[in-house]
Amino acid sequence: MVVEDSSSGTGQCLCGAVRYRYQGKPASVGLCQCRRCQRQSGSAFLIGVVFPAEAVTIEGELAVYEAAVHDGSRLWRHFCRTCGSAVMITLDRFPQIRSMMGGTIDDPDIVQPSFSIWCSEGQGWLRLPEAVTCFPDYPDGTFA
Ligand SMILES: [Zn+2]
Ligand SMILES: [Zn+2]
Repeated sequence: MVVEDSSSGTGQCLCGAVRYRYQGKPASVGLCQCRRCQRQSGSAFLIGVVFPAEAVTIEGELAVYEAAVHDGSRLWRHFCRTCGSAVMITLDRFPQIRSMMGGTIDDPDIVQPSFSIWCSEGQGWLRLPEAVTCFPDYPDGTFA
C-alpha cells in the first residue's frame, strides 16, 4: 500500500514508554465487543484504528500476548510492559495492517468508528450511535 496522505499524528501508552507516529488517515475505525476485547481493555469494547503497516512507526518496547481467534487464525495483542496499556493488534490474516487502539491516539478527532463487530457479545447497557453499523460477529473482510 502506498501512503499518499501527507498528514500525520501521534499516540502513546499511559506512561509514555511507548510512542508512535502514523501517516495519513485511518483506513478504517471499528469497535470490537467480543469478550476477549472486553477483558483486555477492561471496558465494554476495544477501538481499532487501522493503518497500513508502513504508515506506523513505533518507539519503545511493546510486550505481546498471542491469542487464537474463533476461526483458528492468530492475533497478537501488543501492550506496554510498564503500564499495561493496550497499544496495537496485529493479525496473521492481515499482515499489511496495524490496528492501533483508539484510546492511545493523541488526536481523538480521528477516532470516528463506523462499525462494531461482535455486537452479539456486547454488554447489555451499551447503545451505539446509529452511524455505527453493528455486526453480530466477524464479517469477512473487516479489519478490526
Ligand atoms: Zn506505558
Ligand atoms: Zn474482539
